[in-house]
Amino acid sequence: MLWLTTGQATLAWPSGLSPSTLRLFEEYLKRSEELRAARRREGICIFLLVLTGAAAFTLPWLGANPVFSLLCAAGAFLVFRCYLKASRRVNHVFINLNVLHHHLLGKLEVGSCRHGESCDCVNEFRRLVWQRYHISLYEESLTPG
Ligand SMILES: [Zn+2]
Repeated sequence: MLWLTTGQATLAWPSGLSPSTLRLFEEYLKRSEELRAARRREGICIFLLVLTGAAAFTLPWLGANPVFSLLCAAGAFLVFRCYLKASRRVNHVFINLNVLHHHLLGKLEVGSCRHGESCDCVNEFRRLVWQRYHISLYEESLTPG
């Protein structure tokens, strides 16, 4: 039995599957968690950008001290820089994840099972990955989310 520890759950995988395939998949899971975190950060930046930007434009109309408006504009500028950084990170991790996905598919394609003869390990692995993580290892495209 081969085991893969993800979070609190320790899950069993088809016994013939090569450890390097599982390691690759573990790396893939780690990266996809990173992508989720990076997207969350990007979302927060967009939210703050809209907030500070709107405040900078509407405060003068509400008769507030122009200093507040300037402060909000400065804040929007800083948030925008954070957004650019977050956006670059999202792109970077996304490309990285695509490469890993491609590797994983290639590995499964050539048969990453130690049984040598025809068996159902790889198909079982694909099925389990879909069941547990909703990650498709069937086609070339990366499933969103
Ligand atoms: Zn097998």
